[in-house]
Amino acid sequence: MVRLVLKVLDAERRDYGKGIARLDPEVMEKYGIMDGDLLVIEGEAEAAALAGTGGPQDKGRGVVRLDPLLRANARAEIGASVTVEKVERRYARVVKLAPTNYHASIDDHVLESIRNKLIGHPVMEDNEIHVTIVDIPVPFRVVSVKPRGPAIITDETEVYVFEEPVGEFPRVTFDDIGGLGNVIDKIREMIEIPLKYRKVFRKLGVDPPKGILLYGPPGTGKTLLAKALANEVNAYFITINGPEIMSKYYGESEQRLREIFKLARKKSKKNPAIIFIDEIDAIAPKRDEVIGEVERRVVAQLLALMDGLESRGNVIVIAATNRPNALDPALRRPGRFDREIEIPMPDKKGRLEILKIHTRRLSELGVLSRDVDLAKIAEITHGYTGADLAALVKEAVLHAIRRQVRLDTPGEWPPPDDLLSSIKVTFEDFLFAYRS
Ligand code: ADP
Repeated sequence: MVRLVLKVLDAERRDYGKGIARLDPEVMEKYGIMDGDLLVIEGEAEAAALAGTGGPQDKGRGVVRLDPLLRANARAEIGASVTVEKVERRYARVVKLAPTNYHASIDDHVLESIRNKLIGHPVMEDNEIHVTIVDIPVPFRVVSVKPRGPAIITDETEVYVFEEPVGEFPRVTFDDIGGLGNVIDKIREMIEIPLKYRKVFRKLGVDPPKGILLYGPPGTGKTLLAKALANEVNAYFITINGPEIMSKYYGESEQRLREIFKLARKKSKKNPAIIFIDEIDAIAPKRDEVIGEVERRVVAQLLALMDGLESRGNVIVIAATNRPNALDPALRRPGRFDREIEIPMPDKKGRLEILKIHTRRLSELGVLSRDVDLAKIAEITHGYTGADLAALVKEAVLHAIRRQVRLDTPGEWPPPDDLLSSIKVTFEDFLFAYRS
């Protein structure tokens, strides 16, 4: 079988989500690879893909074009080298999928549409695929494929979709978070180190906390922190969105909570599990201020679940809120969310760090003009959160693209590398974004 080493480039938009890897046409001809052949792309992990012929611009360049999902599955970034192997074209008899997170239940109608959408799609165990359900791409993990190995789904493949989510293993690292050095130190000390050196700490009678409350304004990096921690300790990560669980599962919120805790416990045998409760104030507002009986019961359920977690267990619950004082005080008692960490608005230095992180890729591609004074931008963006700064960079890039490339709608994000490498983002673009 053919095995090649090729350099990764970004796919074109129209190929996104299709599982297609377009190869240098010269390479295809030389090694007898045809459109639709089954490939395994190997970076730090493996992804199944279908071969497609690259455009004339890729001729003789030894490249393969992968969309973000294929790159994530193969764990390979743009510019990295991957091994591309052509394998025998096989068809899947049975494929089992599980959503990576909780979402509305999948009824027969949705299931049928998932099946139809996946016909012709390449799969392999542990790969992630996205299925568009009512206009929203929903991520699923491929739990198993029979016969084992890479294969293509046909209309005869039995596709099963589990209700139980598999959770996710985030890729964000602490290096992707700016301006929160002190907070990161605290989190490492409080959770990461006791988790990593469990045995030693246990002897000393120190256990990692069961619950941590992160509080601060929206968009300051609370979710990023929880994900980066999960990545660092190889934890299974599962998100509960406060408002969503209260509305979408109305009437079954308590049961959902129980299921999630049960699942986390089950998954935490080998590695830790982290349950992240975003906007916890929606689930657990002060009980005396609550009108409905439902809310009262949900808070009681959450308290019971927290109390039920073993203090020596491997499950950690991280909750985020921007209104800590709106929380039921019972949640903040010992053994529950008894550690609190404030996530502040970034100061000037923090804003500069965040701007550097969000322009890192632009710098690497040589797209950031030398006149861009990030320190100056950090200075004038008083009151901006991390999310605001990320949006500012995005707006500056879009402005640069509109200025230099004739496009009707340069709306997609992030822009493909080919488009980016033909432009320069200048200080003026940032000022424009700042003013608008
Ligand atoms: P929160 O959970 O506090 O509401 P998030 O962690 O979801 O905020 O942040 C939203 C987005 O804003 C992130 O995906 C990231 O792009 C950007 N962002 C926020 N805070 C930071 C930060 N401290 N460093 C880098 N990026 C940040």
